[in-house]
Amino acid sequence: MTMLSNRQKEIARQISGAHVAGQWQDWRWQHRHAVRSIADFEKLTGIEFACDERAQLEQTVSHFPLSITPYYLSLIDTSDCHNDPVFRQAFPSPAELVMHAYEMTDPLAEEEDSPAPHITHRYPDRVLFHISNVCAMYCRHCTRKRKVGDVDFIPDKATIQQGLAYIRATPQIRDVLLSGGDPFMLSDDYLDWILTELRYIPHVEIIRIGTRTPVVLPYRITESLVEVLRRHHPLWINTHFNHPREITTSSRAALARLADAGIPLGNQTVLLAGVNDCPRIMRRLVHKLVQNRVRPYYLYQCDLSKGLSHFRTPVGKGIEIVESLIGHTSGLAVPTYVIDAPGGGGKIPVMPNYLISWSTNKVILRNYEGVITTYKEPDSYEPIFCDRKCDDCTLQLKLDDADECRATGIAQLLSDADERITLVPESLERMERRDEEMQGA
Ligand SMILES: *Cc1c(COP(=O)(O)O)cnc(C)c1O
Repeated sequence: MTMLSNRQKEIARQISGAHVAGQWQDWRWQHRHAVRSIADFEKLTGIEFACDERAQLEQTVSHFPLSITPYYLSLIDTSDCHNDPVFRQAFPSPAELVMHAYEMTDPLAEEEDSPAPHITHRYPDRVLFHISNVCAMYCRHCTRKRKVGDVDFIPDKATIQQGLAYIRATPQIRDVLLSGGDPFMLSDDYLDWILTELRYIPHVEIIRIGTRTPVVLPYRITESLVEVLRRHHPLWINTHFNHPREITTSSRAALARLADAGIPLGNQTVLLAGVNDCPRIMRRLVHKLVQNRVRPYYLYQCDLSKGLSHFRTPVGKGIEIVESLIGHTSGLAVPTYVIDAPGGGGKIPVMPNYLISWSTNKVILRNYEGVITTYKEPDSYEPIFCDRKCDDCTLQLKLDDADECRATGIAQLLSDADERITLVPESLERMERRDEEMQGA
């Protein structure tokens, strides 16, 4: 058990009169005493807002509610809160009420790609399963801000069964991502039930869980939770650290518990103006993550959800950050920078350009130092015509159990086994003209 700082003891004492040993590390106590009003926040931190500022904050909270665990609150640097990354992620800003026409309530079209309750099926072989509508803390930059402040609820078994039925009936699904809300706000038993049900489905090869509890409520990662999780391997967890300051003794202990249970850990960071839009901060973050056996997985461009405009950076900031990482540090520490396409196109990776030019036998590349180099391509290469008749192929590698899937998208255009030569957007003026001409003829 980790030692409490004096700040933490003081906050605990203010919340419950006397500080009872062990209560701070009790995740249910933390959740029960989440700070949900500006007044409580002021009382516990000693930060005071001017009258007009408070009025604006109250108005913001009436649109987008507030909830901060005492633990996460204790990380705020009260001497400089307005520049503090923890404060900025947890505490409302009147800037959230500035909305733009190009912003959307559901920019990722998660509700449209939902074939069953709480399921988003976007990619061919994997689904998001939103099994919780409860979060330990309400992140101000939440992409599902539309839902924050809906009544916190956990879908009942009958509802979860509908999602399970969809997964059971859809054999392409080999990867199920449990998300929310935060799946770890479920009780151990309920989570155990869902994981057990998923494990009964033969085509579900892996299960992933996305959770921010190691960051905002590390005490949730109890021995008994980990005992449940380790029964359902192969299980992967992605967490959500945005700033090196979030990596504390308690969060390190939580990560170590998960890693010791054999769970591969990844991290998804959101690029946030005023929080982590700095190559030095990001470098520090990714290094601390790998030290704690967490692989930086994605760096997200901030979504076009309503109320997030003050958090957004130009895409160039993300590219600059990735430029400062690739080559400069371990490849293991470099996340993939992605833009989640508005309208439901999914995650699109973006990178600095390393391929500078190309001829029929040579590529020109540049490295992270700016050295321009050539790679000589083979003078002769017999293209392998692939019509997916693997039995006739000299590359036969006994692919008996390799799954056969039809190529889609750009991979389909590259495939020799497919007739398709173009992918045409649905509403293209040129094509509409063709249709009109056809009708005219
Ligand atoms: C992010 C996401 C996934 C998982 O994407 P990976 O690139 O496999 O991590 C799956 N479904 C939806 C809807 C997503 O947004």
